[in-house]
Amino acid sequence: MHHRLTGSALALTLAASLTAPALAGPQQPAPSASTPKSAATAGQSCNDNTGDTGTNAWISHAELERELQKLERNSKGTLSVETIGQSNQGRDVWAARVGHGDKVVMIESEIHGNEKTGTLAILNLLRTMSGNTPEAKALREQITVVAVPQLNPDASELDRRANDRTWDEVLADFPQLADAPAPWNYYTQPRQGDDYAARPGFDVNRDFHPDLDYVPSPGDFPGTSDDPGWYIHPESQNIRDLYRELQAEFGTVDTFVDLHHQGPCYLVGDTGEEVTLSLSGKFVDIENHAQHDKGYDLDYSKQLTLSAYDALQSRGNSPFGKISLYDQEVDLPGTALGSFALNGSGTVLFEVRGQTQSWGAKKKGQLVKAVETGLLGIVRDVAHGTAEQQDPARYDDIPLTTYPEY
Ligand SMILES: [Zn+2]
Repeated sequence: MHHRLTGSALALTLAASLTAPALAGPQQPAPSASTPKSAATAGQSCNDNTGDTGTNAWISHAELERELQKLERNSKGTLSVETIGQSNQGRDVWAARVGHGDKVVMIESEIHGNEKTGTLAILNLLRTMSGNTPEAKALREQITVVAVPQLNPDASELDRRANDRTWDEVLADFPQLADAPAPWNYYTQPRQGDDYAARPGFDVNRDFHPDLDYVPSPGDFPGTSDDPGWYIHPESQNIRDLYRELQAEFGTVDTFVDLHHQGPCYLVGDTGEEVTLSLSGKFVDIENHAQHDKGYDLDYSKQLTLSAYDALQSRGNSPFGKISLYDQEVDLPGTALGSFALNGSGTVLFEVRGQTQSWGAKKKGQLVKAVETGLLGIVRDVAHGTAEQQDPARYDDIPLTTYPEY
Protein backbone atom coordinates (compact mmCIF):
# COMPACT_ATOMS: atom_id res chain seq x y z
CA MET A 1 0.00 0.00 0.00
CA HIS A 2 1.14 3.48 -0.62
CA HIS A 3 1.05 6.20 1.96
CA ARG A 4 0.87 9.95 1.97
CA LEU A 5 4.30 11.50 1.66
CA THR A 6 3.39 15.02 2.48
CA GLY A 7 1.78 17.40 4.92
CA SER A 8 -1.55 19.06 4.40
CA ALA A 9 -0.19 22.13 2.62
CA LEU A 10 1.47 20.10 -0.08
CA ALA A 11 -1.51 17.78 -0.21
CA LEU A 12 -3.64 20.79 -1.08
CA THR A 13 -1.24 21.70 -3.84
CA LEU A 14 -1.40 18.22 -5.23
CA ALA A 15 -5.15 17.99 -5.00
CA ALA A 16 -5.35 21.06 -7.20
CA SER A 17 -2.77 19.75 -9.57
CA LEU A 18 -4.13 16.84 -11.53
CA THR A 19 -2.39 18.10 -14.60
CA ALA A 20 -1.72 21.42 -12.90
CA PRO A 21 1.43 23.49 -13.02
CA ALA A 22 4.31 23.34 -10.63
CA LEU A 23 4.36 25.93 -7.90
CA ALA A 24 5.00 29.40 -9.22
CA GLY A 25 7.91 31.55 -8.25
CA PRO A 26 11.66 31.21 -8.05
CA GLN A 27 12.54 27.82 -6.69
CA GLN A 28 15.73 26.29 -5.47
CA PRO A 29 16.17 22.69 -4.49
CA ALA A 30 16.25 22.28 -0.74
CA PRO A 31 19.20 20.30 0.53
CA SER A 32 17.84 16.92 1.46
CA ALA A 33 19.10 13.41 1.79
CA SER A 34 16.30 12.23 -0.47
CA THR A 35 16.99 14.66 -3.31
CA PRO A 36 20.37 13.74 -4.72
CA LYS A 37 22.33 15.59 -7.32
CA SER A 38 20.09 14.77 -10.25
CA ALA A 39 17.33 16.74 -8.58
CA ALA A 40 19.71 19.55 -7.70
CA THR A 41 20.71 19.85 -11.35
CA ALA A 42 17.14 19.69 -12.47
CA GLY A 43 16.33 22.49 -10.06
CA GLN A 44 17.58 24.95 -12.65
CA SER A 45 14.52 24.11 -14.74
CA CYS A 46 12.08 23.88 -11.85
CA ASN A 47 10.89 27.45 -11.90
CA ASP A 48 7.64 28.20 -13.61
CA ASN A 49 8.88 30.49 -16.37
CA THR A 50 12.10 30.13 -18.31
CA GLY A 51 11.09 32.59 -21.00
CA ASP A 52 11.70 29.97 -23.67
CA THR A 53 8.59 27.91 -24.18
CA GLY A 54 9.84 26.21 -27.32
CA THR A 55 6.49 26.87 -28.95
CA ASN A 56 7.82 26.60 -32.47
CA ALA A 57 9.13 23.11 -31.84
CA TRP A 58 5.60 21.79 -31.50
CA ILE A 59 2.89 21.22 -34.05
CA SER A 60 0.44 24.04 -34.78
CA HIS A 61 -3.26 23.59 -35.41
CA ALA A 62 -2.76 24.18 -39.14
CA GLU A 63 0.10 21.67 -39.26
CA LEU A 64 -2.01 19.15 -37.38
CA GLU A 65 -4.73 19.43 -40.01
CA ARG A 66 -2.21 18.76 -42.77
CA GLU A 67 -0.72 15.80 -40.89
CA LEU A 68 -4.11 14.23 -40.33
CA GLN A 69 -5.04 14.71 -43.98
CA LYS A 70 -1.78 13.10 -45.01
CA LEU A 71 -2.34 10.13 -42.70
CA GLU A 72 -5.81 9.67 -44.12
CA ARG A 73 -4.53 9.86 -47.72
CA ASN A 74 -1.70 7.40 -47.09
CA SER A 75 -3.80 4.93 -45.13
CA LYS A 76 -5.51 3.31 -48.12
CA GLY A 77 -8.84 3.61 -46.38
CA THR A 78 -7.82 2.28 -42.99
CA LEU A 79 -7.91 5.68 -41.24
CA SER A 80 -10.57 8.38 -41.43
CA VAL A 81 -10.65 11.89 -40.01
CA GLU A 82 -13.80 13.76 -39.11
CA THR A 83 -14.52 17.15 -37.61
CA ILE A 84 -16.30 16.67 -34.30
CA GLY A 85 -16.95 20.35 -33.60
CA GLN A 86 -15.35 23.74 -33.18
CA SER A 87 -13.59 25.48 -30.33
CA ASN A 88 -14.92 28.68 -28.81
CA GLN A 89 -12.87 30.69 -31.32
CA GLY A 90 -14.14 28.57 -34.21
CA ARG A 91 -11.19 26.26 -34.78
CA ASP A 92 -12.01 22.77 -35.96
CA VAL A 93 -11.53 19.82 -33.63
CA TRP A 94 -10.83 16.50 -35.32
CA ALA A 95 -11.15 12.83 -34.43
CA ALA A 96 -9.07 10.27 -36.29
CA ARG A 97 -10.40 6.72 -36.37
CA VAL A 98 -8.55 3.56 -37.26
CA GLY A 99 -9.56 -0.09 -36.91
CA HIS A 100 -12.89 -1.88 -36.80
CA GLY A 101 -12.68 -4.08 -33.73
CA ASP A 102 -15.51 -4.20 -31.25
CA LYS A 103 -13.62 -2.51 -28.40
CA VAL A 104 -12.99 1.20 -28.66
CA VAL A 105 -9.98 3.02 -27.22
CA MET A 106 -10.46 6.78 -27.04
CA ILE A 107 -7.43 9.05 -26.65
CA GLU A 108 -7.21 12.82 -26.28
CA SER A 109 -4.40 15.36 -26.06
CA GLU A 110 -3.95 19.06 -25.30
CA ILE A 111 -7.08 19.67 -23.28
CA HIS A 112 -4.39 21.85 -21.72
CA GLY A 113 -2.69 23.67 -24.59
CA ASN A 114 0.74 23.91 -22.95
CA GLU A 115 0.99 20.10 -22.67
CA LYS A 116 1.98 19.03 -26.14
CA THR A 117 3.77 15.69 -26.38
CA GLY A 118 0.50 13.76 -26.58
CA THR A 119 -0.44 15.20 -29.95
CA LEU A 120 2.78 13.99 -31.58
CA ALA A 121 2.51 10.61 -29.85
CA ILE A 122 -1.04 10.22 -31.17
CA LEU A 123 0.13 10.98 -34.72
CA ASN A 124 2.85 8.33 -34.38
CA LEU A 125 0.37 5.79 -33.03
CA LEU A 126 -2.06 6.52 -35.87
CA ARG A 127 0.74 6.13 -38.40
CA THR A 128 1.69 2.75 -36.91
CA MET A 129 -1.88 1.50 -36.70
CA SER A 130 -2.87 2.56 -40.21
CA GLY A 131 0.20 0.94 -41.76
CA ASN A 132 0.62 -2.23 -43.74
CA THR A 133 2.41 -4.42 -41.19
CA PRO A 134 0.93 -7.71 -39.98
CA GLU A 135 0.64 -6.27 -36.48
CA ALA A 136 -1.20 -3.18 -37.69
CA LYS A 137 -3.65 -5.32 -39.60
CA ALA A 138 -4.21 -7.52 -36.55
CA LEU A 139 -4.74 -4.53 -34.27
CA ARG A 140 -7.28 -3.06 -36.69
CA GLU A 141 -9.22 -6.33 -36.58
CA GLN A 142 -9.30 -6.36 -32.82
CA ILE A 143 -9.91 -2.78 -31.72
CA THR A 144 -11.05 0.64 -32.88
CA VAL A 145 -8.93 3.63 -31.89
CA VAL A 146 -10.53 7.07 -31.91
CA ALA A 147 -8.07 9.85 -31.15
CA VAL A 148 -8.66 13.55 -30.65
CA PRO A 149 -5.38 15.45 -30.79
CA GLN A 150 -5.54 19.10 -29.68
CA LEU A 151 -8.95 18.92 -28.08
CA ASN A 152 -8.55 22.55 -26.98
CA PRO A 153 -6.96 24.21 -30.04
CA ASP A 154 -7.47 27.81 -28.86
CA ALA A 155 -5.31 26.97 -25.85
CA SER A 156 -2.84 25.11 -28.06
CA GLU A 157 -2.40 28.13 -30.31
CA LEU A 158 -1.90 30.39 -27.28
CA ASP A 159 0.39 27.74 -25.73
CA ARG A 160 -1.48 27.99 -22.44
CA ARG A 161 -3.58 25.90 -20.09
CA ALA A 162 -7.06 27.46 -20.39
CA ASN A 163 -9.36 27.98 -23.32
CA ASP A 164 -10.04 31.44 -24.84
CA ARG A 165 -13.50 32.34 -23.58
CA THR A 166 -15.14 34.85 -21.27
CA TRP A 167 -17.86 34.31 -18.68
CA ASP A 168 -20.05 36.66 -20.75
CA GLU A 169 -19.76 34.25 -23.66
CA VAL A 170 -20.84 31.41 -21.39
CA LEU A 171 -23.83 33.47 -20.26
CA ALA A 172 -24.83 34.07 -23.86
CA ASP A 173 -25.07 30.28 -24.26
CA PHE A 174 -26.65 29.68 -20.82
CA PRO A 175 -28.88 32.68 -20.01
CA GLN A 176 -30.28 30.86 -16.97
CA LEU A 177 -26.91 31.50 -15.29
CA ALA A 178 -27.16 35.30 -15.54
CA ASP A 179 -27.19 35.81 -11.76
CA ALA A 180 -24.58 33.16 -10.95
CA PRO A 181 -21.00 33.97 -9.99
CA ALA A 182 -18.29 32.91 -12.42
CA PRO A 183 -16.89 29.44 -11.70
CA TRP A 184 -13.81 28.76 -9.62
CA ASN A 185 -11.82 27.56 -12.62
CA TYR A 186 -12.14 30.87 -14.51
CA TYR A 187 -8.73 32.52 -14.98
CA THR A 188 -8.73 36.32 -15.13
CA GLN A 189 -5.27 37.09 -13.75
CA PRO A 190 -1.77 36.47 -15.14
CA ARG A 191 -0.71 32.88 -14.66
CA GLN A 192 2.16 30.75 -15.96
CA GLY A 193 3.33 33.71 -18.02
CA ASP A 194 -0.02 34.07 -19.80
CA ASP A 195 -2.09 37.25 -19.61
CA TYR A 196 -5.51 35.94 -18.68
CA ALA A 197 -6.52 39.47 -17.61
CA ALA A 198 -6.45 40.48 -21.27
CA ARG A 199 -7.74 37.12 -22.52
CA PRO A 200 -9.64 35.18 -19.87
CA GLY A 201 -10.28 31.49 -20.08
CA PHE A 202 -11.39 28.39 -18.22
CA ASP A 203 -9.67 25.17 -17.25
CA VAL A 204 -11.72 22.93 -19.55
CA ASN A 205 -10.57 19.86 -17.64
CA ARG A 206 -12.84 20.80 -14.74
CA ASP A 207 -15.97 21.19 -16.87
CA PHE A 208 -17.00 17.50 -17.01
CA HIS A 209 -19.91 15.86 -15.23
CA PRO A 210 -20.58 12.13 -14.88
CA ASP A 211 -24.16 12.82 -16.01
CA LEU A 212 -23.39 13.30 -19.69
CA ASP A 213 -26.67 15.20 -20.18
CA TYR A 214 -26.01 17.60 -17.33
CA VAL A 215 -27.63 21.05 -17.64
CA PRO A 216 -26.18 23.68 -15.26
CA SER A 217 -28.21 25.78 -12.85
CA PRO A 218 -27.18 28.98 -11.01
CA GLY A 219 -26.76 27.20 -7.66
CA ASP A 220 -23.87 25.16 -9.11
CA PHE A 221 -21.54 28.16 -9.14
CA PRO A 222 -18.82 29.02 -8.30
CA GLY A 223 -18.30 25.33 -7.42
CA THR A 224 -15.06 23.70 -6.27
CA SER A 225 -12.61 21.12 -7.53
CA ASP A 226 -14.47 18.52 -5.44
CA ASP A 227 -17.61 19.06 -7.53
CA PRO A 228 -18.42 17.93 -11.05
CA GLY A 229 -18.39 20.51 -13.83
CA TRP A 230 -21.19 21.63 -16.14
CA TYR A 231 -20.41 21.12 -19.85
CA ILE A 232 -20.54 24.86 -20.44
CA HIS A 233 -17.70 24.98 -23.01
CA PRO A 234 -17.64 23.84 -26.63
CA GLU A 235 -14.37 21.97 -26.05
CA SER A 236 -15.77 19.72 -23.30
CA GLN A 237 -19.08 19.39 -25.16
CA ASN A 238 -17.24 18.18 -28.28
CA ILE A 239 -15.48 15.29 -26.55
CA ARG A 240 -18.55 14.51 -24.41
CA ASP A 241 -20.66 14.23 -27.58
CA LEU A 242 -18.09 11.97 -29.21
CA TYR A 243 -17.98 9.82 -26.08
CA ARG A 244 -21.78 9.47 -26.16
CA GLU A 245 -21.74 8.53 -29.85
CA LEU A 246 -19.14 5.85 -29.19
CA GLN A 247 -21.16 4.56 -26.23
CA ALA A 248 -24.15 4.22 -28.54
CA GLU A 249 -22.10 2.45 -31.19
CA PHE A 250 -20.01 0.13 -29.00
CA GLY A 251 -22.19 -0.25 -25.90
CA THR A 252 -19.38 1.12 -23.77
CA VAL A 253 -16.20 3.08 -24.31
CA ASP A 254 -13.75 0.41 -23.20
CA THR A 255 -10.77 2.68 -22.60
CA PHE A 256 -10.13 6.41 -22.34
CA VAL A 257 -6.61 7.84 -22.15
CA ASP A 258 -5.92 11.51 -21.41
CA LEU A 259 -2.45 12.90 -22.22
CA HIS A 260 -1.03 15.65 -20.00
CA HIS A 261 2.15 17.21 -18.63
CA GLN A 262 3.12 18.04 -15.04
CA GLY A 263 5.94 19.86 -13.28
CA PRO A 264 9.42 19.13 -14.65
CA CYS A 265 11.28 18.09 -11.51
CA TYR A 266 9.46 15.26 -9.78
CA LEU A 267 11.19 12.09 -8.63
CA VAL A 268 10.44 8.38 -8.82
CA GLY A 269 9.69 7.17 -5.30
CA ASP A 270 12.83 7.37 -3.15
CA THR A 271 15.20 6.54 -6.00
CA GLY A 272 16.24 10.14 -6.60
CA GLU A 273 15.65 9.57 -10.32
CA GLU A 274 13.79 12.21 -12.26
CA VAL A 275 10.35 11.22 -13.49
CA THR A 276 9.96 10.89 -17.24
CA LEU A 277 6.27 10.17 -17.01
CA SER A 278 3.73 9.58 -14.27
CA LEU A 279 0.71 7.34 -14.75
CA SER A 280 -2.55 6.91 -12.91
CA GLY A 281 -5.81 4.98 -13.14
CA LYS A 282 -7.58 6.64 -10.19
CA PHE A 283 -9.19 10.09 -10.32
CA VAL A 284 -12.23 9.93 -8.06
CA ASP A 285 -13.12 8.54 -4.67
CA ILE A 286 -16.09 6.40 -5.61
CA GLU A 287 -17.60 6.66 -2.13
CA ASN A 288 -18.25 10.33 -2.79
CA HIS A 289 -19.97 9.72 -6.14
CA ALA A 290 -21.98 6.54 -5.70
CA GLN A 291 -25.06 8.22 -7.17
CA HIS A 292 -23.15 8.64 -10.44
CA ASP A 293 -21.68 5.13 -10.57
CA LYS A 294 -22.52 3.68 -13.98
CA GLY A 295 -20.06 0.80 -13.93
CA TYR A 296 -16.98 2.32 -12.30
CA ASP A 297 -14.19 -0.26 -12.56
CA LEU A 298 -11.04 0.84 -10.78
CA ASP A 299 -9.38 -2.55 -11.23
CA TYR A 300 -9.65 -2.30 -15.01
CA SER A 301 -8.12 1.17 -14.95
CA LYS A 302 -5.28 -0.23 -12.84
CA GLN A 303 -4.79 -3.07 -15.32
CA LEU A 304 -4.62 -0.65 -18.24
CA THR A 305 -2.17 1.52 -16.33
CA LEU A 306 0.01 -1.55 -15.84
CA SER A 307 -0.12 -2.20 -19.58
CA ALA A 308 1.43 1.21 -20.19
CA TYR A 309 3.86 0.79 -17.30
CA ASP A 310 5.08 -2.64 -18.41
CA ALA A 311 5.59 -1.49 -21.99
CA LEU A 312 7.80 1.32 -20.72
CA GLN A 313 9.69 -0.87 -18.24
CA SER A 314 10.41 -3.38 -21.00
CA ARG A 315 12.72 -0.81 -22.54
CA GLY A 316 15.14 -1.51 -19.72
CA ASN A 317 17.23 0.82 -17.63
CA SER A 318 16.70 4.05 -19.55
CA PRO A 319 14.66 7.24 -19.18
CA PHE A 320 11.69 5.21 -20.41
CA GLY A 321 11.84 3.22 -17.19
CA LYS A 322 11.62 6.30 -14.94
CA ILE A 323 7.91 6.01 -14.39
CA SER A 324 5.98 6.87 -11.23
CA LEU A 325 2.43 6.68 -10.00
CA TYR A 326 0.65 10.04 -9.89
CA ASP A 327 -0.92 11.21 -6.64
CA GLN A 328 -3.63 8.69 -5.70
CA GLU A 329 -5.57 10.85 -3.23
CA VAL A 330 -7.23 13.13 -5.77
CA ASP A 331 -11.02 13.27 -6.13
CA LEU A 332 -11.75 15.19 -9.31
CA PRO A 333 -15.15 14.35 -10.82
CA GLY A 334 -14.94 17.44 -13.03
CA THR A 335 -12.09 16.00 -15.09
CA ALA A 336 -12.71 14.09 -18.30
CA LEU A 337 -11.02 11.06 -16.72
CA GLY A 338 -13.11 11.25 -13.56
CA SER A 339 -16.42 11.60 -15.39
CA PHE A 340 -15.70 8.95 -18.00
CA ALA A 341 -14.44 6.54 -15.31
CA LEU A 342 -17.76 6.93 -13.50
CA ASN A 343 -19.42 6.06 -16.82
CA GLY A 344 -17.64 2.71 -16.83
CA SER A 345 -14.56 3.31 -18.99
CA GLY A 346 -11.13 2.05 -18.07
CA THR A 347 -9.20 5.31 -17.71
CA VAL A 348 -5.51 6.16 -17.74
CA LEU A 349 -3.73 9.46 -17.14
CA PHE A 350 -0.31 10.22 -18.64
CA GLU A 351 1.62 13.09 -17.02
CA VAL A 352 4.80 13.88 -18.94
CA ARG A 353 7.47 15.96 -17.22
CA GLY A 354 7.43 19.68 -17.91
CA GLN A 355 4.79 21.98 -19.34
CA THR A 356 6.06 24.36 -21.99
CA GLN A 357 6.40 27.41 -19.71
CA SER A 358 8.92 25.61 -17.53
CA TRP A 359 10.44 22.97 -19.78
CA GLY A 360 10.10 24.29 -23.32
CA ALA A 361 10.72 21.52 -25.81
CA LYS A 362 13.60 19.88 -23.95
CA LYS A 363 13.91 16.12 -24.47
CA LYS A 364 10.98 16.34 -26.83
CA GLY A 365 11.83 13.27 -28.89
CA GLN A 366 12.38 11.09 -25.85
CA LEU A 367 9.21 12.27 -24.10
CA VAL A 368 7.05 11.80 -27.19
CA LYS A 369 8.49 8.29 -27.56
CA ALA A 370 7.67 7.52 -23.93
CA VAL A 371 4.03 8.50 -24.45
CA GLU A 372 3.85 6.56 -27.70
CA THR A 373 5.33 3.48 -26.00
CA GLY A 374 2.82 3.61 -23.17
CA LEU A 375 -0.08 4.12 -25.57
CA LEU A 376 0.99 1.19 -27.69
CA GLY A 377 1.22 -0.97 -24.56
CA ILE A 378 -2.41 -0.18 -23.77
CA VAL A 379 -3.58 -0.62 -27.35
CA ARG A 380 -1.89 -4.01 -27.68
CA ASP A 381 -3.18 -5.33 -24.36
CA VAL A 382 -6.75 -4.22 -25.05
CA ALA A 383 -6.56 -5.76 -28.52
CA HIS A 384 -5.17 -9.05 -27.25
CA GLY A 385 -7.45 -9.20 -24.22
CA THR A 386 -4.40 -9.30 -21.95
CA ALA A 387 -5.10 -6.07 -20.07
CA GLU A 388 -7.82 -7.75 -18.05
CA GLN A 389 -5.42 -10.57 -17.16
CA GLN A 390 -3.08 -8.20 -15.34
CA ASP A 391 -2.98 -8.49 -11.57
CA PRO A 392 -4.37 -5.11 -10.45
CA ALA A 393 -2.55 -5.43 -7.10
CA ARG A 394 0.74 -4.83 -8.96
CA TYR A 395 -0.45 -1.27 -9.55
CA ASP A 396 0.37 -0.43 -5.95
CA ASP A 397 3.97 -1.50 -6.55
CA ILE A 398 4.56 1.33 -9.03
CA PRO A 399 6.69 3.86 -7.12
CA LEU A 400 4.76 6.93 -6.06
CA THR A 401 5.82 10.33 -7.31
CA THR A 402 7.97 12.27 -4.87
CA TYR A 403 7.50 16.03 -4.97
CA PRO A 404 10.75 17.68 -3.88
CA GLU A 405 10.56 20.99 -2.06
CA TYR A 406 12.04 23.88 -3.94
ZN1 LIG B 1 -2.99 18.90 -18.04
